[in-house]
Amino acid sequence: MIDIHNHILPGIDDGATDWEQSIAMAHVAVEDGITDIVCTPHWVPGKYENTRGTVLALLDELKKRLSDNGIALRLHPGMELRLDSSLITRIQEGELLTMNDRKAYALIELPEEALPRNLEDFFWQLQLQNIKPIIGHVERNPVLRQDPIRLYRWAEMGIITQVTAASLLEEFSPEIRDFAIQIVEHRMVHVLVTDAHGLRMRTPKLSDAYKVVENILGPEGAREMTCDLPGRILMGEPVLTAEPIPMYRPSSRPSFWQRIFSLK
Ligand code: FE
Repeated sequence: MIDIHNHILPGIDDGATDWEQSIAMAHVAVEDGITDIVCTPHWVPGKYENTRGTVLALLDELKKRLSDNGIALRLHPGMELRLDSSLITRIQEGELLTMNDRKAYALIELPEEALPRNLEDFFWQLQLQNIKPIIGHVERNPVLRQDPIRLYRWAEMGIITQVTAASLLEEFSPEIRDFAIQIVEHRMVHVLVTDAHGLRMRTPKLSDAYKVVENILGPEGAREMTCDLPGRILMGEPVLTAEPIPMYRPSSRPSFWQRIFSLK
């Protein structure tokens, strides 16, 4: 399995705190059946202003330490980019990293409080530069839980979205778990990731959540979300996502009587 969202690099965000923890996380990932990790430390203006240089240097050092420890895990560069008006310029200028540094896919973190009205314009602008957005942990965004139709439209537009393994295992809340399950059922989310931050919550494991996805979509669907799609993203190759199945907003779901009358 390939994990394309992971905070295994030490000391540059709220993920691994030191080399020891990074190596322990790598051990857990390999035991869980993960072969590749895209290291995606946060880039958040004013908070985690990591640059291409700092991330690549840490990545090289971790690769060396893994090989010294005999851990067979492939690491690739990346960043989790907080939505910001300067993102496109910073990517073009090479200050920020896209997935596996291929300028084909960028992992975007949305703000939780509110989503900008012109967010879809931003997705469009990014795609005009031949960079496809991948939206992190959509199930944990309260705005999207209130307005799943917006997420449905993104899926229709071919925007790739991620669901966190821990969400499917109810590590956050029953509400988040239920929404995560629903959007997997409705093919509104495409890649399963760990978003690992350490060894307690959000650990670097995919296998338990893989079983949850397998129960919903079958073995092919689970493989697609953990191997096929992330593999293509890693190589910068185009991906074709499944057609989403419409989902009603909680308040707009037709009532029993509305459905009876609509039959007439
Ligand atoms: Fe993350």
